Amino acid sequence: MLDPNKSTVLIVDPSASNRSLISECLAQLPDVQTVVAANGAQALNQFCKHHPSLVLMDIALHDTDGLSIAKSMRSWERSAEQPGVMPWTPIVFLSTVMDEDILAEGIMAGGDDFLYKPVSEVVLLAKVRALLRIVCMQKEIHEAHRQIKALSLLDGLTNIPNRRHFDETLRTEWRRCSRLKAPLSIVIGDVDFFKQFNDIYGHQAGDECLKAVAGALNESLFRVEDIVARYGGEEFAAILPGTDAIGAQAVAERMRSSARELCIPHQGGVGGLISCSFGVASMVPSCETPAPLLLQAADESLYAAKRNGRNQIRSLDQGAQKTG
Ligand code: GH3
Ligand code: MG
Ligand code: MG
Repeated sequence: MLDPNKSTVLIVDPSASNRSLISECLAQLPDVQTVVAANGAQALNQFCKHHPSLVLMDIALHDTDGLSIAKSMRSWERSAEQPGVMPWTPIVFLSTVMDEDILAEGIMAGGDDFLYKPVSEVVLLAKVRALLRIVCMQKEIHEAHRQIKALSLLDGLTNIPNRRHFDETLRTEWRRCSRLKAPLSIVIGDVDFFKQFNDIYGHQAGDECLKAVAGALNESLFRVEDIVARYGGEEFAAILPGTDAIGAQAVAERMRSSARELCIPHQGGVGGLISCSFGVASMVPSCETPAPLLLQAADESLYAAKRNGRNQIRSLDQGAQKTG
């Protein structure tokens, strides 16, 4: 079992004695643990399984050569979308032959450095230390980048996905549902008489109200692939992939009643409480139909719900749903 707090070095060498010599040498570094592979297939397997921080690989393997394994590792890194996988793992080739052309080829294949056998312990330890130091900094940058990316997709006030997240998700889900010939529904919700709410209770109370409504709408979604985002000031929009018109009506009804059940007093609101109106639109996406058409349909339905008295759900082809 590997210790997640230690850096893992993958040693790839066809010779069992070389593997143990290198492992014993690296055992002098307290924060380092090793995994080993005897050939190319094992090396790739260990690389994908353990996500090592550093690879020390003999350039001459029995089943293949180190260069093609390095290329495969680089292409796996590019394709991997797993947390904890670094965009770049240093690969150091070990070689018995000191040849400039092989060195250049190794670097072109995705290697970062060469060590010549027999490797001096001092040089090996120094190189491993230096590369792990860079890996450590890379991890910090990677984590900061992950956090910034996550923040950039969240709405600062309500903490639910923002418009950018909504647009990106709609693009992805549109393509996915179009491939699968599955339905996709959009629900757009808008807080009723919200300008008046701000006028009566103040902007700060308005902000608190938006937070509460966002939380209620978010909790109305049960499927992991569904998202609700803050679409604009007091507008929210949900993407429901794989949900047809009937399912979307049911979700919109949950959203409507959960916002209503917050029981936030609003003198100028429907029945003295905060409420939201909703527009629903559904279709099986296709490459020929642009996603904005569906958004427009949901928006038109929303305005029909507003015109019809608010605190209700409308879809393009159906009449008013429940109110209460
Ligand atoms: P309707 O029922 O037709 O939707 O009427 P409405 O008053 O809700 O709609 P209108 O578009 O006239 O007003 C929207 C209000 O939402 C005005 C704007 O100041 C307020 N608003 C937008 N974003 C925020 C925000 O982040 N915080 C607060 N407190 N108010 C906001
Ligand atoms: Mg509005
Ligand atoms: Mg409004």
